[in-house]
Amino acid sequence: MSVRCQRTIAQPCEVTGVGFLTGADITLRFIPAEENYGVRFQRVDLPGTLPIPARLDYVVPRQRRTAISRGGATVEMIEHAMAALAGLQIDNCLVQLNGAEPPGGDGSSLHFLRALLEAGIVDQSAPQPLIVIQHDAKVQGERDDSEIVAALISRRLMAVTYELDYGARSPIRPQQLTIEFSPELFVTNLAYARTFVLQAEADALRQQGYGTKLTEKDLLIFGPHGVIGNTLRAVDECVRHKVLDCIGDFALLGCDVHGHFRAYRSGHALNHAICRQVAAAASGQTITVTSRAA
Ligand SMILES: [Zn+2]
Repeated sequence: MSVRCQRTIAQPCEVTGVGFLTGADITLRFIPAEENYGVRFQRVDLPGTLPIPARLDYVVPRQRRTAISRGGATVEMIEHAMAALAGLQIDNCLVQLNGAEPPGGDGSSLHFLRALLEAGIVDQSAPQPLIVIQHDAKVQGERDDSEIVAALISRRLMAVTYELDYGARSPIRPQQLTIEFSPELFVTNLAYARTFVLQAEADALRQQGYGTKLTEKDLLIFGPHGVIGNTLRAVDECVRHKVLDCIGDFALLGCDVHGHFRAYRSGHALNHAICRQVAAAASGQTITVTSRAA
């Protein structure tokens, strides 16, 4: 991943399905956008509300998901749509939806990815801004030993290492993955990885009224003896999904990053926190690179 020009989609495309949290039928439209527009989500069911930039400044605190809010409009659980856009290096896009969250699909990014690839991707003229991580930054969880380090890397790319470890008694086995980001890698190795929850967590969410339409066919639910009523797409599908989540969350920086993120048991809140550190450290950096290399 070197300096590159910004990209958008060639034509609008649509994804329909059920929202994981609300159970509502949702239609989502990806619409091409001009250079430097970034990614913005717009609630078309709330007339008069403005598109919400998918940037750190608009993130609102949530458990186990990424949500953005502006004025009277909030969009929940944007991370898998964001991962599909970032994974394909689509920088400028208006995302319109008629409900509070994107369609959940199968809990991965595949349903978004397919629509975007079918729409086609086009290069624009402006260079995509870039942050080069110069000094290590680190954030840690407040209530556990989770952490993320963002470190200098000697090559011009973004690497992500994720170490998932819920302990010896968890039905989800410890697993680790390091990737060097590229759209090709995202399409073949990450996009298919689905959301997962423990059975106890799924029960607790249902009691709160969330995910009441979901079954074990719609995402990965882990009971004491492993995944229930479903088959893993890869033995390490869970850690692949965690890296997918990182790709979606790191895109809230609104630019490319060259550096190595090393995450241990992190979730969305910590992903946002490391992005804030990286953005703060880079605030004095000249981040828009001039040349238009590939
Ligand atoms: Zn996720």
